[in-house]
Amino acid sequence: MTKNILVVGEFNQDGLSETTAELLTGASSLSSGGSVSIVLLGAGSQEKAQSSFSYGATKAYTIDNESFSEFLPDKWAIAVNDIYEKEKPDLILLEQSTVGRDLGPRLAFKLNSAVAMDCVSIESDDAGFKATRPCFGGNARATYSYSASPAVATVRAKSFEAKTQGNENGEVVQIDLAADSKVSVINREEVATEGLKLTDAPIVLCGGRGLGGPEGFDMIQELANVIGTDKAAIGSSRAACDLGWYPVANQVGLTGKVVNPDLYVGIAVSGASQHMAGCSGSKSIIAINKDPEANMFKSARWGIVGDYKEVVPALIEAIKSS
Ligand SMILES: Cc1cc2nc3c(=O)[nH]c(=O)nc-3n(C[C@H](O)[C@H](O)[C@H](O)COP(=O)(O)OP(=O)(O)OC[C@H]3O[C@@H](n4cnc5c(N)ncnc54)[C@H](O)[C@@H]3O)c2cc1C
Repeated sequence: MTKNILVVGEFNQDGLSETTAELLTGASSLSSGGSVSIVLLGAGSQEKAQSSFSYGATKAYTIDNESFSEFLPDKWAIAVNDIYEKEKPDLILLEQSTVGRDLGPRLAFKLNSAVAMDCVSIESDDAGFKATRPCFGGNARATYSYSASPAVATVRAKSFEAKTQGNENGEVVQIDLAADSKVSVINREEVATEGLKLTDAPIVLCGGRGLGGPEGFDMIQELANVIGTDKAAIGSSRAACDLGWYPVANQVGLTGKVVNPDLYVGIAVSGASQHMAGCSGSKSIIAINKDPEANMFKSARWGIVGDYKEVVPALIEAIKSS
């Protein structure tokens, strides 16, 4: 059964975000030959729309207007609602990002429908869509079906694999829309980050309070260097961030970033449920902890019981000599 899907895309000066490319690829297979549209809002959206076609979009709606460049949730909701009325998709997909977290529920409310947040997979069948998301602080997963339409879902990074579809062409529809917002942004502080983004990294090395001090992160940095800083990024538990050992921007967990890497390595992290909420979607987890009863071992595919001061240097040497 064919399905029509609308992706609310995000982009920066370099192009479409990686997660938007993933959502388009996922939408393309979920649609079973139906339409896959994308909406891109803000200055430069028309130019960025072009690359959406290679990931499976057949139509791109753009509002290439500076007044939409800042994410103002009430204003963006009006724009996406306007495009919904034109396209009437069965499913609206958003990133589980600052934009998606705010816009997803607003849209569902506006459309008198339902939203599933923080999904790690979406399936399609004759009855509609099923959304799977972590629950109980990341210790279990629940699958929901929708009894309302359109289905709205925010999806974690890396839940789908971004793949080009061998198509470069599609229709760009530029929309003229005036919408006001009750929100005004007074100031913006950008956190300077170098290298690979934590949420994009295929390998996340995460340090916890058991490191004993900020110098423990130097050892983790050394491990990241031998793996390759184009593959490995460093995260931290909240306890380590609260102690000022690592920047809060790299905190993983319920109140930090949600990461979904191919490999997550928890180094001297206990694995509290609030921490696991941010990493339980990882494809594989390795736990390094001196306490064999540490909760992290329950989620880990591989575990190393030992002092990280011995285990991490041994890993570094093993990788160097491999
Ligand atoms: C509302 C709320 C939201 C929260 N949000 C988050 C969140 O987003 N992210 C988050 O991380 N936490 C969050 N927390 C805090 C969470 O509950 C834990 O307190 C925190 O994750 C603990 O961090 P930790 O595992 O680094 O430290 P600890 O619990 O102190 O664990 C340290 C671990 O290191 C091991 N260890 C010690 N020394 C060594 C060594 N030499 N070698 C190897 N292992 C060693 C210990 O055995 C232990 O398992 C939240 C809590 C609340 C209440």
